[in-house]
Amino acid sequence: MDKRKFRKVMAANRGEIAIRIFRACTELGISTVAIYSEEDKLSLHRYKADEAYLVGKGKAPIDAYLGIEEIITLALKADVDAIHPGYGFLSENPEFAERCEAAGIAFIGPTAEMQRALGDKVAARKVAVAAGVAVVPGTEEPTEHEEEALIFAKQHGYPIIIKAAAGGGGRGMRVARNKKELLEGLTSARSEAKAAFGNPAVFLERYIENPKHIEVQVLGDGHGNLVHFFERDCSIQRRHQKVVEFAPSLCLTEQQRSAICADALKIASQVSYRNAGTVEFLIDKEGSHYFIEMNPRIQVEHTVTEMITGRNLVQAQILVAEGHRLSDPEIGITTQMDVSKRGYAIQCRITTEDPTNNFAPDFGTITTYRSSAGCGVRLDAGNAFTGSHITPHYDSLLVKVSAWGLSFVEAARIMNRSLQEFRVRGVKTNIPFLENVVTHPVFLAGGCDTSFIDKHPELLQ
Ligand code: ADP
Repeated sequence: MDKRKFRKVMAANRGEIAIRIFRACTELGISTVAIYSEEDKLSLHRYKADEAYLVGKGKAPIDAYLGIEEIITLALKADVDAIHPGYGFLSENPEFAERCEAAGIAFIGPTAEMQRALGDKVAARKVAVAAGVAVVPGTEEPTEHEEEALIFAKQHGYPIIIKAAAGGGGRGMRVARNKKELLEGLTSARSEAKAAFGNPAVFLERYIENPKHIEVQVLGDGHGNLVHFFERDCSIQRRHQKVVEFAPSLCLTEQQRSAICADALKIASQVSYRNAGTVEFLIDKEGSHYFIEMNPRIQVEHTVTEMITGRNLVQAQILVAEGHRLSDPEIGITTQMDVSKRGYAIQCRITTEDPTNNFAPDFGTITTYRSSAGCGVRLDAGNAFTGSHITPHYDSLLVKVSAWGLSFVEAARIMNRSLQEFRVRGVKTNIPFLENVVTHPVFLAGGCDTSFIDKHPELLQ
């Protein structure tokens, strides 16, 4: 791949991640292009770019950011060199990556081929097995027939988790604790997967009780050079969706850390990975780690890794897409030893959801918005300002708060102070719930596993 300097980059996304991309570009001297739907005509990301174009006129709000044809036509008209897909929307759509490249526009992400090898969970498990990395015991192929499911249950016992091969965002999963739940779950998971992801394929895995979710941030340049940026602990989840994330983990010995990071690199190198990516593992009570999936894109929680390593991951994505090698001065990573970490960082996702009403999304106009600031705090906000209209059309993430401290407890104290400083009126937020999490003794001791929120209903008060 030849090197080329991007002059203009489009973010095919909205909200905080579009703004994050624009900031990274501006710092690199690249001009920026936003797209926005009719529902987003007053959204902040539109005004944070040098140019902005309406997309998806007359389409459903979500579909505006999924129109491959329209987005590429617009990108050509606006003369952009590259498109950054952010997360969600088209970020894991190999067809989009292919169409960009065919139009002469660089896709800031892995090649379509790499996406195909990793995007589908069943395919990714095969990559991990080929790389010699342990996966959660599961079916090698999608499970179509009841008999296959029953044979798996006989071999591995219950509980079993039924997962959509194309799943994401914690959706399309079902836990079965007996034969009846397995057979019923198989049918309902398939139809749910078809409706949500357009692909009915599901597979089975042994369900690990109360695991920790540990994921490793990697970066590859597509020339065979790969490094990791240590791990994040994302065990604090609600309905299999991450709520609070931190780095580094408090539950790994140095030996375990080296082993899990090495395994992540083995998987990425199996496909000569290019771009930032995240290799996700579950850790069982015995401390063994098992690969579950790889996300070939930037993730919501990348901020905590940036804070402990001092590295700008979104800029690294752009530089790698420009054709740079990791060792080029622009990135400056010649060996793994060049990546170091310091302190602890925690991220909380402030959402417009009501924790006292089962986290129902809330809508309306924000009448007061005062955010926190100060030593050790980083904010990545979407439509967070006084007068902002929160609509039901998109996800409920309002602002990501990240806090850094030399120790985990100090980071937690800064986070708590920061959450307390916020004033958001007009719409309900989950701030009171987040305050309860970051002051909880189990959290402060690093003891949270994926069952933490379910086991502590007092967090909701
Ligand atoms: P998604 O792509 O939807 O995020 P993942 O495969 O990454 O799905 O899993 C999300 C979460 O679901 C995990 O962090 C974990 O809490 C739970 N989970 C997934 N697979 C298993 C499993 N085999 N055993 C126990 N929990 C699981």
